[in-house]
Amino acid sequence: MRRKLVAGNWKMNGTNADLKEIEALGIAWAAPRVDIVVCPPATLVSRMAFALGGQRSRVGGQDCHAEASGAHTGDISAEMLKESGARYVILGHSERRADHHETDEMVRAKTEMAHKTGLTAIVCLGETDAQREAGETLDIVAAQLAGSLPDGATGANTVVAYEPIWAIGTGKVPSLEQIGEVHEALRTKLRERFGDEADAIRLLYGGSVKPDNAAEIFGGADVDGALVGGASLKSTDFSPIISALE
Ligand code: PEP
Repeated sequence: MRRKLVAGNWKMNGTNADLKEIEALGIAWAAPRVDIVVCPPATLVSRMAFALGGQRSRVGGQDCHAEASGAHTGDISAEMLKESGARYVILGHSERRADHHETDEMVRAKTEMAHKTGLTAIVCLGETDAQREAGETLDIVAAQLAGSLPDGATGANTVVAYEPIWAIGTGKVPSLEQIGEVHEALRTKLRERFGDEADAIRLLYGGSVKPDNAAEIFGGADVDGALVGGASLKSTDFSPIISALE
């Protein structure tokens, strides 16, 4: 049985004052049946881990470099994230694939480094509007999955987040059938490659998850939780999303 997971992606939002949103989650943090992770900007990882005391498994980074260290100005290593208290890292988010030209090959190398360091990678993939219109969705996500995951992926070190790009930050959400079709295809591909271990890898849906649609989305086939952007910034939005998964 896969444990449910809700991961919040703060993107380039949040300063010290916003840590109050984490404290305000209160009871939600004690949700026994759901794993909760918040991925703030790198500047807040350490403070958020500290604010959560011993519950460090609930903080994640938003990216890491594929190499352990070196001349990579502005980048952050997996080890740095881990030392700051992170236990997860989002990799291959569509905004990084678009803004920083990250390829599947690069995402795979970063994922390998995350695994080597002991971080759980939340690997993102998803199609554009044009690709969906052209009927290419299943081919696109299958190729991203094959290219972005390294051979050592397990249920403990890898989470896959299906995030249709046209649904991110737009308020548009695919139908349950559309999510189900993609998750089923991803699960099949995972099984072909990783055998029984594939059933331990969690599949999240991401893209405009809000308090008012979370319960319906979580009721979909093979949806193990969500990667939440905008609605993870305020405890009053994030908390009901967590509750919807319990
Ligand atoms: C995201 O950026 O991963 C995301 C899902 O954003 P939003 O929830 O704001 O659509």
